[in-house]
Amino acid sequence: MTFWAVVFVFLALWGTLYALRTRRLRRRRERVRSRPFPAEWNAFLEKKVVLYRILPEDLRKILRRKILLFMDEKHFEGCGGLVVTDEMKVVIAAQACLLVLNQRDETVYSGLSSILVYPDAYIAPEVIPLDDNLCIETTGVQSGESWREGMVVLAWRDVRNESKSLRHGFNVVLHEFAHQLDEENGAADGMPILRDRGGYESWQSVFRREFKKFRNDSIARRNSPLDDYGASDPAEFFAVATETFFQVPRRLRKAAPDLYMQLMKYYGVNPAEWQQP
Ligand SMILES: [Zn+2]
Repeated sequence: MTFWAVVFVFLALWGTLYALRTRRLRRRRERVRSRPFPAEWNAFLEKKVVLYRILPEDLRKILRRKILLFMDEKHFEGCGGLVVTDEMKVVIAAQACLLVLNQRDETVYSGLSSILVYPDAYIAPEVIPLDDNLCIETTGVQSGESWREGMVVLAWRDVRNESKSLRHGFNVVLHEFAHQLDEENGAADGMPILRDRGGYESWQSVFRREFKKFRNDSIARRNSPLDDYGASDPAEFFAVATETFFQVPRRLRKAAPDLYMQLMKYYGVNPAEWQQP
């Protein structure tokens, strides 16, 4: 057999195995999505996740299918002595999946494999930029992190408290999973993959303008529904804007209607119209 014949046979075999694996995976996902949603999980959500309580019923149905997939495919690991319960997993999964309600049902966060959960805020290495060329490496107290290598880290105490209330606009789960979406194209730059390919120009124009305005507002200590942390860089601006979009949507719509509109198109939902608690 010639060299090219060997290559051809190898590629044909690899293609067949890949197709078989993909088909098996698709069937498995179909089975998982059509499982009945456990009543106990629904009770956790009703009790602990305010965004689930106010979500319109048609979106709840989609969300439950995505939670089933998330719970089946993602690995949760307790850190610092924490035992991760089903309640913790479901509360985290529900809020992560809120961000992908409008994405195709095939899977959720394909690049993500593990969620590490600490009982409380934890100490982790931190890089603080001083200017464009200089940064310092130190350690800091964290309530969450998103790693490009398929991992999210969360502090349960913050997750639990922020899931219960929309009042302050903070939500570490929404924040870290927005970073995961941002990083899907390989860069943490506040520019996620848009379903509407023609939408990049207006996204960039609105986000650049709003980020600049927000930075100036932040320096001048002008009031904004967005948390100051969003002024750090465009990636943090997108993550903070996502929290604000879901947690205090009417305030964001009033303060920054163009930004709200871009996020509404991207996430495919309009939280300002949901019944507020
Ligand atoms: Zn962040």
